[in-house]
Amino acid sequence: MNPQERYETIVGLEVHVQLSTRSKAFCGDDASFGGEPNTRVSPVSLGHPGTLPRLNARQVECAVRLGLALGCEINLRSRFDRKHYFYTDLPKGYQITQDAEPICRGGALPIRIGSEWKSVGIHHIHMEEDAGKSIHDQDPRHSLIDLNRAGVPLLEIVTEPDLRSPEEVNAFMSAMRQLVRWLGISDGNMQEGSLRCDVNVSVRKKGSTALGQRCEVKNLNSMRFARKAIEYEVRRQIALLEKGGRVGQTTLHFDPRTGRTSPLRDKEDAHDYRYFPDPDLPPVVLELAYVEGLRAALPPLPWELFRRMVEDFSLKTGEAEILTAERPAAELFFQLAAQTPDARAAAGLLVNKVLPWAQEHDCPLDSFPLPVQRLASFLELVHQGKVSTSIAYQRLFPACLQHPDQDPETLAQTLNLLQSKDADFLQTLVGQVLERHPDKVLAYRRKGKKGLLGFFMGELMRASKGKADPQAANALLRRALEEEG
Ligand code: ADP
Ligand code: MG
Repeated sequence: MNPQERYETIVGLEVHVQLSTRSKAFCGDDASFGGEPNTRVSPVSLGHPGTLPRLNARQVECAVRLGLALGCEINLRSRFDRKHYFYTDLPKGYQITQDAEPICRGGALPIRIGSEWKSVGIHHIHMEEDAGKSIHDQDPRHSLIDLNRAGVPLLEIVTEPDLRSPEEVNAFMSAMRQLVRWLGISDGNMQEGSLRCDVNVSVRKKGSTALGQRCEVKNLNSMRFARKAIEYEVRRQIALLEKGGRVGQTTLHFDPRTGRTSPLRDKEDAHDYRYFPDPDLPPVVLELAYVEGLRAALPPLPWELFRRMVEDFSLKTGEAEILTAERPAAELFFQLAAQTPDARAAAGLLVNKVLPWAQEHDCPLDSFPLPVQRLASFLELVHQGKVSTSIAYQRLFPACLQHPDQDPETLAQTLNLLQSKDADFLQTLVGQVLERHPDKVLAYRRKGKKGLLGFFMGELMRASKGKADPQAANALLRRALEEEG
């Protein structure tokens, strides 16, 4: 057996989410992404002596809402600590974080792997602030520093070592991105660094229950890099163990150009952050009523709506996944499903027409040109058989988008798209089709090739340009074929 197959991969994540608050965590500086370097800094961000931090209530609200969504225990009393290290993009010389008493503990995030659900344990969530940004590739002789990001509010979500593969890590990060966007607490944009993670990786022999020694790969800001870093680490650690070596607990950096990890610093070399409670910030004390108020105001969560779509409305998992990717789409589905007898048709309309159109036109769903009622009347026309599905999708829907002020049935009438049950019209078509294929008519009547009915139906529908009512046409066609036999 390949040595790789004798081992199991174990991963735990430390996920950083940058919150979309207007101001920074401890002062009024603009916290949005970008800007001319070093224009969004005040003496507080710069850590000048004599300045004092002041807590941003929005950051606390975001932390509590995320904690409630993940089923965490909310600590009514938490505290900020100073984490010291020297780095040029950290002007204060310490980062304000929560070490000993974080705001949330426990909880779990459900992730879907293929058709299975898996619950990934959350160890805790804490509040902290971001550091500035060092830029090493713009000046040949100097590193440049942009402090606009210094002090921007973050949540750090630390998972249990519950993940078993890069696929699970990917699913976790996607689910976390979906959730923070769903709750409106972050844009979850990995390219802009609003969502990044440190991955802790270890391996152990299959069947063993003790955890192996882990390494931590810092600051991965793309899923592709996270996957590559994990795959590289797993291979490296297995090779080391197979040679009789020992994995040392190290902090690593992943180099996207080489696809390899290399040590940043050795944790056992007493990397001491000298944590102590921040004397400038009092403990964060929450009232139970405040927490319960936020709990009551929480929207239904994406995995709950996914389940309802699949179990109560019989949607395919692929459709439910698309419809729960963003909250407005899920909400639109439930509104539409409440107004139509055919929820699966509603899902099909959203997945195949509405969402692609909105995406193509960069249009938020709440400004989609057709209101829910119009979408419902469109579906009703198809449901009642007044317009065939293909004509409805290919011709009527684009027309509705061009004339959003007109009712779909009126439009179908104007454009002559209504299906015909008219017996004369259908009978003429039946006659034409049979006349055109005498050999097949003979085969049906003499040789009993009843399967040809499908062929005749296809021809008839084509001849009617999709306007024949299929049920009525089918009955007439069958009668014509049987009668004169
Ligand atoms: P720290 O030493 O950084 O304070 P912890 O020991 O609490 O942190 O773990 C931090 C992260 O490492 C968590 O995400 C946890 O799930 C993960 N982790 C801990 N032990 C292992 C292990 N043996 N293999 C993989 N991940 C691990
Ligand atoms: Mg750590």
